[in-house]
Amino acid sequence: PKKVVVVGGVAGGATAAARIRRLSEECEIIMLEKGPHVSFSNCSLPYHLSGLIEDHEDLVMMKPDDFYSQYRIDARIYNEVTEIDRENKKVKIKNLVTGEEYEETYDKLVLSPGANPIVPPFEGLEKVNYFTIRNVVDVAKLNSFLTDSVSKDVVVIGGGFIGVEVCENLKLGGYNVTLIEATPQIMNVFDYDMVQILHKEMIDNDVNLIVNDKVMKFDKDEVILESSKSIHADAVVIAIGVTPDTRLAEKAGLKIGQTRAIEVNHNFQTSDPDIYAVGDAIEAYNTLTNKRARLALAGPALRQARSAADHMFGKSVDNRGVIGSSAIKLFDLNAAVTGLTENAIKINNLALNYDSVMIIPNDKVGLMPDANPIHFKLIFEVPTGRILGAQAIGRGNVDKRIDIIATLIRFNGTLYDLKEMELCYAPPFSTARDVVNVAALVGINVLENNYKQVHVSEVRDLVESGAYIIDVREKDEYEEGHLINAVNIPLSEIRNRTNEIPTDRPVYLHCRSSQRSYNALTALQHLGFTNLYNISGSFMGICYY
Ligand code: FAD
Repeated sequence: PKKVVVVGGVAGGATAAARIRRLSEECEIIMLEKGPHVSFSNCSLPYHLSGLIEDHEDLVMMKPDDFYSQYRIDARIYNEVTEIDRENKKVKIKNLVTGEEYEETYDKLVLSPGANPIVPPFEGLEKVNYFTIRNVVDVAKLNSFLTDSVSKDVVVIGGGFIGVEVCENLKLGGYNVTLIEATPQIMNVFDYDMVQILHKEMIDNDVNLIVNDKVMKFDKDEVILESSKSIHADAVVIAIGVTPDTRLAEKAGLKIGQTRAIEVNHNFQTSDPDIYAVGDAIEAYNTLTNKRARLALAGPALRQARSAADHMFGKSVDNRGVIGSSAIKLFDLNAAVTGLTENAIKINNLALNYDSVMIIPNDKVGLMPDANPIHFKLIFEVPTGRILGAQAIGRGNVDKRIDIIATLIRFNGTLYDLKEMELCYAPPFSTARDVVNVAALVGINVLENNYKQVHVSEVRDLVESGAYIIDVREKDEYEEGHLINAVNIPLSEIRNRTNEIPTDRPVYLHCRSSQRSYNALTALQHLGFTNLYNISGSFMGICYY
């Protein structure tokens, strides 16, 4: 192509434009952005609210002039594309400063218009100061509203990535923050058993966390919930999700997919082969659910943009769909997830036979002063052992662990591959057998039926039904807190106290993190006990549940 027009100048748009320039020095590239900034870090926006990024201008990574001097890309801010004339291969543009309307022709067009925050028509919305966070202007507006006034009470609606990050940063910025989430949990990319750790971190950091309650309406500086609770709000941040910006595409008659995002093919071409689309506005393909899906994440947007550019210059494209890998920091905790969760398997009604293990080992050698437990959940297919997903939450490194799993999922790896993964180790980094290797070993034990397990989610019922539960921690640990009616037989004594253990009913074992109970279980199995279950996740998992 001799001339390419790109709509949207941030993640997908700027990446496509830069890649096109690397593929051709002759091509005329025009990048049109309706906002005042191109190439800003969307993902860093929340960190302005705590002051970690003091000046909002620092969120902008490149100015239009930089695009011209470095790439000969004609980047035009405040220029909104209002219409695509497919027949004549032209776009209509409105200069939002001068009001002037003009046209540009194209050989190829790239759409990367992103997604818009959802703001439902709540009753009384005009009675509160409400904000959404999508770009630098939005976050600067909220920040100056809060710093210029005596406003202290902020209500964030929605417990997804943006809501949680905004909430954390506002709290660190010194505000009183309430987070309202309509479902029983925040961050629904994590399973309910794992996310409780994040709930506790919110509460420990003095965030007023309200789950399972919906915003019904607003009154003067008040948010009124379904439960009829009323919360004072000097400012309200609405972060209940985004919707793909398909306006231009729809108007141009391009095909919109089942998920209401722009449908694209393997090469990221829309139903018009001269128009490509990438980023939050398109429908991706999830290779684990085998379903079309929306995924508003920066990494996939950049990969798609590069592929679209490659394709228009005759290079082959390797579109591998998405599996969904993401990470978040919440106060002192780091959390990461990849692939399928149990929740996703259920919601998508997937005909998958699977099981999961939860382990809580140290993230580095215990002698290191900053060693911390890492809560790690691994989900795998039964009977193949194919790895389907993982979630990790801890104070230390979680993303490395999840990235290992993401890599394995890409290559259809199994528990056996994970067991044999040779990873780097020194005490300040990890343990000689890393968390992920341990998870594989535990998973293999479950897969091969070397022992039986129950999940933390089943423990309440076990306790209530009077099941026989042995707590194999030492006496002092037991005395500090234990499950009602759990019998304390420490691992160090278990071989001498087998006569106390019933053989006519199931026996459930736990310790702090499942490791000692596993050792107790194998000892008892060798001594002839057959009806034994390890409680996956053990006391730490149970405590959070
Ligand atoms: P965008 O980057 O949003 O760019 C679209 C641009 O197109 C916009 O600037 C818009 O003004 C412009 N535009 C739209 N229509 C027109 C038009 N008609 N004419 C001209 N211009 C137009 N992802 C992660 O992976 N990790 C994170 O930690 C993370 N954190 C985030 C935090 C926040 C607060 C936000 C808002 C997003 C975050 N994301 C994160 C998501 C990530 O930023 C997006 O997935 C990514 O930016 C999508 O790229 P895009 O090019 O599709 O859209």
